[in-house]
Amino acid sequence: MAHLSDIEIANQVEMKPITEVAKTLNLTEDDLTLYGKYKAKLDVNELVKMKDEEDGKLILVTAITPTPAGEGKTTVSVGLADGLSRIGKKSMIALREPSLGPVFGVKGGAAGGGHAQVVPMEDINLHFTGDFHAIGAANNLVAALLDNHIHHGNALQIDSRKITWKRVVDMNDRQLRHIVNGLQGRVNGVPREDGYDITVASEIMAVLCLANDIVDLKEKLKKMIVAYSFTGEPVTAGDLKAEGALTALLKDAIHPNIVQTLEHTPAIIHGGPFANIAHGCNSVIATKMSMKYADYTITEAGFGADLGAEKFIDIKCRLSGVRPDAVVLVATVRALKMHGGVPKTELGEENVEAVKAGIVNLEKHLDNIQNVYGLPVVVAINKFPLDTDAEIKAVEDAVSAQGVDIVLADVWAKGGEGAEELAEKVVELADKPNNFSFVYDEEDSIETKLNKIVQKVYGGKGVELTKVARRELQELEKLGFGNYPICMAKTQYSFSDDATLVGAPKDFTVTIRNLKVSAGAGFIVALTGAVMTMPGLPKSPASERIDVDAEGNISGLF
Ligand code: ADP
Ligand code: MG
Repeated sequence: MAHLSDIEIANQVEMKPITEVAKTLNLTEDDLTLYGKYKAKLDVNELVKMKDEEDGKLILVTAITPTPAGEGKTTVSVGLADGLSRIGKKSMIALREPSLGPVFGVKGGAAGGGHAQVVPMEDINLHFTGDFHAIGAANNLVAALLDNHIHHGNALQIDSRKITWKRVVDMNDRQLRHIVNGLQGRVNGVPREDGYDITVASEIMAVLCLANDIVDLKEKLKKMIVAYSFTGEPVTAGDLKAEGALTALLKDAIHPNIVQTLEHTPAIIHGGPFANIAHGCNSVIATKMSMKYADYTITEAGFGADLGAEKFIDIKCRLSGVRPDAVVLVATVRALKMHGGVPKTELGEENVEAVKAGIVNLEKHLDNIQNVYGLPVVVAINKFPLDTDAEIKAVEDAVSAQGVDIVLADVWAKGGEGAEELAEKVVELADKPNNFSFVYDEEDSIETKLNKIVQKVYGGKGVELTKVARRELQELEKLGFGNYPICMAKTQYSFSDDATLVGAPKDFTVTIRNLKVSAGAGFIVALTGAVMTMPGLPKSPASERIDVDAEGNISGLF
C-alpha cells in the first residue's frame, strides 16, 4: 500500500478555526492576535499576570541516540498530546518552529509526520508568523551597527579580526560561509573577512528562547558579545546602544504562536534554536504559557537524551525555573539495530539479534534519566511500517525486565488513537514524586562541569582540553563567566565525540576544542569538533520536488 505523504494527510483534515481550538483552553478571541483563520499569537504579558496561578504538568519527550533520519520525537509529541486529549485531558504541545534550511534540504519540515502533525503544516514550515524573519533582521541590525561603528572612527576600538558576530540568512547556503566584504574603497566600508550563519544559529534566537519576558529579553540582548577590542575587552550589543531597537524588531516574535494538531489539540510553536551551539528547545515563554493554560504540556528537546535532555535540564530549566514531571524516551527498532552494529543501509531488514545487541544504548539513556536527571520515565516505541513483531517484542522484553514501563506508540499510522495507552502511562508517571537534579552545580568550575557531563551522562572518562580551549577557559573565567551553564556542541550520533561509536561506548575521553560564551543567552558553548553553523544543500535538494498548482495548493513538502 502506498502511503500518503505528510502534506496529503494534512490536506485531508479540515482544520477548525483557531478561535475554536483555543476555547478548549478557556481562551477567548480577546486572548489571541489572529494571523488569518488558523494561526494566532498569544500575549506574553498574560504570563506575567498569571505568574501566581498553578502550573500544569510538563512532559519532556526525548530519544535514544538517533539515526540521521530522526527517531520521531516530534511525531510522538504530537501523537501523545492527541492521545491525552482523547482520554479527556486538557493538553497542549510546545514545539520549535522549523527553519527553512532543512525544509529545502534533506530532512524536510519539522511539524511531525503521518497522522501526528501540526497544521497548517505548509505555513508552519514556510514563513509562519514571520518570527524567523524578525530574528534575522535583528541579528543583521547588530552586524550593520557594528561595521558602521568601525567605519565612523571605531571609538570602541573594535579589533576587526576579533568580530564574533556574523550576519544570518534562514537558508542552507554554503557559499556564504566565508566571505570578504566592505570592498571598493573608503565610502563602502572597511574590508574584512566575514561569514554568514543560518538564522537559527543566531544568538538572538537563543536569547528569545531563554527570555522570561520582554524586560528580560532586552537585558539579555544588551549583554550579547559582538566583538573584542584591541585590548581584549568584550564589546556588547549594549555598547552599540542596540538593545532598544532590537527589542522593537522582536516585539511580535516574542509572543508564542498557537496552531492545532490534525486532531485539533492546541499547539504552541515558538522559537527554534540550533541544538548544537545552542540548547535546541522551544521558547521558555511558550513552555511557561502552555503550563498555565493546559493541564499537560508536551515538549521536545533536540537530538538524543544525552544532548537535548541534558541541555533542557541544565540550561532551560536552570535559567527559567521550569521543571519537568516525567520523561518519554522515544526508541525505534531501526536505531536499536544501528546500535547493534547493523549498517545504515540494512536497517529495513528484520534482525532481532541486532535489536537485542543495541539495547545497551537505550539502557544507558534510561539510567541517565532515572538516576542522573532523577525523573520518572516511560519508553515509547515509535512504530515504523517495517518493524516486525519479533523485533518489537525484543525491545519490550528487555525494557520490562528492568522494571521500566514501555508502550508501543503507533501515532504515525493512527494519530492520537495510537497513543492512548502512552497517555494513560504519562498521566500516572507525572503524579509520581521525582528527584529532579541538575548534572552539575553553577559554582563548579568550567572544567568540573565538563567532566561531570562526560562522566555522569556520556559514560566516558572525562574531558581533554586543547591548548586553545584551555586559554579560552582562562579568558572566560577572568571575564566572570565561570558560573554559566555549559552548552555541549557534540555529535548527536554517539554518547562520545566520535560519531562512529554506536551503542554505549566506555573509556573514551571527549576533546574540547573551543569554549565560547553566549553572554546574552547565558551559557558557555563547548565545541567538541567542527560545528556547521551554515549548512549546505544536497545534490538533489528537497526543493526540486516542491510545487504549487493553479489554485495555490502546495505539494512536495514533508
Ligand atoms: P525528531 O523530532 O526526533 O527529529 P520527527 O518526528 O521529526 O523526528 O521524525 C523524523 C522523520 O521521520 C519525519 O519525516 C517523520 O515523518 C518520520 N517518522 C516519524 N515517525 C515515523 C513512523 N513511525 N513511521 C514512519 N515515519 C516516521
Ligand atoms: Mg523534532
